[in-house]
Amino acid sequence: MTDGPKKLFDDLVSEIAGYGSGVDLDLVTKAYEFSREAHGAQKRKSGEPFVCHSISVAKIIADLIQARLDTIIVSSALLHDVIEDTSKSIKDVDESFGSEIASIVDGVTKISRYHLMNPEKGQVENFRKMLFSMARDLRVIFLKLADRLHNMRTLEFLEAEKIKRISMETLEIYAPLAHMLGIAEIKRELEDLSFKFLYQSEYRELAATVAEKREEREKYLDEVKEEIAGSLAREGVKAEIVARPKHFYSIYRKMHDQGRRLEDIFDLQAARVITNDKADCYRVLGIIHDLFTPVQDRFKDFIAAQKGNLYQSLHTTVVGPRGRLVEIQIRTKEMHLAAERGFAAHYGYKGGKIDKELLEKLGGFVVDMQELGEIPDAELMELLKVSLYQDDVFVVTPKGDLKKLPRGGTPIDFAYLIHTEVGNRCVGAKVNGSIVPLRFELKSGDRVEIITSPTGRPREDWLHLAKTSSARGKIRHWLRLERQKESIGLGKEILEREMRKHRLKLGSEDELLDAAQSLDCNDIQGLYARIGQGEVSPKQVLQRLFPEWKEKKTPGPLDKLRELVPGKARGVRIHGLDNLMISFAKCCQPVPGDKVTGIITRGRGVSIHRIDCPNSFEDRVGRERMVSVEWDAEKEDSFVVSLLVVGGDRQNLLAGIAKAISSCGSHIRTVSLGTVDGVAKGRFFVEVKNLRHLNDVAKEVRKVAGVSSVEREQFFPAPRKKEAHE
Ligand code: MN
Repeated sequence: MTDGPKKLFDDLVSEIAGYGSGVDLDLVTKAYEFSREAHGAQKRKSGEPFVCHSISVAKIIADLIQARLDTIIVSSALLHDVIEDTSKSIKDVDESFGSEIASIVDGVTKISRYHLMNPEKGQVENFRKMLFSMARDLRVIFLKLADRLHNMRTLEFLEAEKIKRISMETLEIYAPLAHMLGIAEIKRELEDLSFKFLYQSEYRELAATVAEKREEREKYLDEVKEEIAGSLAREGVKAEIVARPKHFYSIYRKMHDQGRRLEDIFDLQAARVITNDKADCYRVLGIIHDLFTPVQDRFKDFIAAQKGNLYQSLHTTVVGPRGRLVEIQIRTKEMHLAAERGFAAHYGYKGGKIDKELLEKLGGFVVDMQELGEIPDAELMELLKVSLYQDDVFVVTPKGDLKKLPRGGTPIDFAYLIHTEVGNRCVGAKVNGSIVPLRFELKSGDRVEIITSPTGRPREDWLHLAKTSSARGKIRHWLRLERQKESIGLGKEILEREMRKHRLKLGSEDELLDAAQSLDCNDIQGLYARIGQGEVSPKQVLQRLFPEWKEKKTPGPLDKLRELVPGKARGVRIHGLDNLMISFAKCCQPVPGDKVTGIITRGRGVSIHRIDCPNSFEDRVGRERMVSVEWDAEKEDSFVVSLLVVGGDRQNLLAGIAKAISSCGSHIRTVSLGTVDGVAKGRFFVEVKNLRHLNDVAKEVRKVAGVSSVEREQFFPAPRKKEAHE
């Protein structure tokens, strides 16, 4: 048990009060009271009141950021666990402390919900990216690092399983994160704590050896320090000489990765000289190089050569007393702070928002660190771009695996990323426990669960919902296969039906395969598919399967007719046929100009009817007996039409009508005339060339004195309107 919360908080306040005007102590006190009340009687596993953890995290942040400390980040630290662990909501925090603090606390809360379940390389990278893409504010990351550091310091109180998982996660995620942000202090402590919990026996062994050799090492370093201090004093330069802290985990890695012996690593002594200003750095370098022989090519000037604004230092290795090599770093206090705290000492007054300016600064930092060999790749830059540009989103499976999706990615993309079958059987999705539509746009940190069903199947519109080309490719593939499958089923059915119809039986599958290949299909399935798609007709296949088979064509009425009544069509052309006997129907007496159709008759060739003649109606004669015809009359052809003439009973009526008809160039074939109740009715069969000619004749007859009406006679009732043919 450490001090109670009151004492801890008082210590914090007295520390931050010293950092000047940036801190609003009233707000910090309000945040403390809010947090203490919210956490109430909650205890940590260590037995401490929970709020002690919050104060400790605020203290770590205060130590880290020091002069640039602001109320926002300290208050956020004090409140960082209230959303996750108490009944307070983000809205409560927002109402009491404003949106900036609320958003930082929210960011930390969200990050804390995710754990690295699987330390594979891709997962580790995605996890870091997810943290950044969720954070978008460096203060969230600083706070999370401080939170993790305090949790690691008190990790021993947890169960073995949790200790292992958290240590692994710290080593894989949080220590590298601290490193990338240049926060060397926190990185070292996180690594050593993880090392202690994960590799207990190695740690104990190493710690024992270090302790054993401590006296000897300290004695040697004292000797070096004394010599340097003496020289500095003679030259009037003020500087502090310190031994560099031993970092167990890096010693372990050197032994493990480079196969070096502990003694070899230990032989290399390391000291650091902290000066008051930059000019002194070079003076100190000159003094040391005078004192001890420098090792060739081991001098590096990271003050002059600095590209970003962060790491600055002079590095040299000299041959110290009794021929032992000593690595020395020379830097000012500010440079030292930047080297130890990186972006925590540099994050600026704009809050921690990652903007382009900060990105550039970090870019320079990354280059420096790469030159130092401290950062092996430019992952940080990539991380920050993730955060700035948000091109990718990182989501979590129910098992805690991380998946990367492009911005706008939907549950469909996610499902196909899990497995093609999960995608194909996907019927719905849950995001953070709630059902969402499949078009839902996933956000970083979303926990996604896909609902599948054995009857689920991709749909055409999924092609628009999926944002990844791989998902779209898989959907397209499935749809294509499905269409293929449908075609195969259909084609098989068509062919089998055709064989049954003609009572044909297949000898063997091989015959079918031969037929398939003769029709340019790879296999039988391919043949079925092409039949189903209508590219190959079943008859084509039957002809190849059964060469002796010829479809027994049921002769159509026209074929019969051709045999029975050969003749020459006159006046009309019958579509696709010649040498057919034709006649013109008596019932409707068509003439050129009338719309006509041909009806196949029994034994009399084709009879030509007007289409408004009921004897040509399809429902009466049957479609198979109808043929289309068009007029093709020669000049000398003529056609007989009956004209019905009504007039007064006059002696000379017949003569007048006959005269009128012949005046039009028409002939009368026959005439029948009668008188009923003093009214004369005559039927004149006349020869005309066409409809125009007929109309001329009728007009002339109408002019004859005594004629009251002239009509073209038809021997069927007037056509029913609704059955009018075109
Ligand atoms: Mn916490």
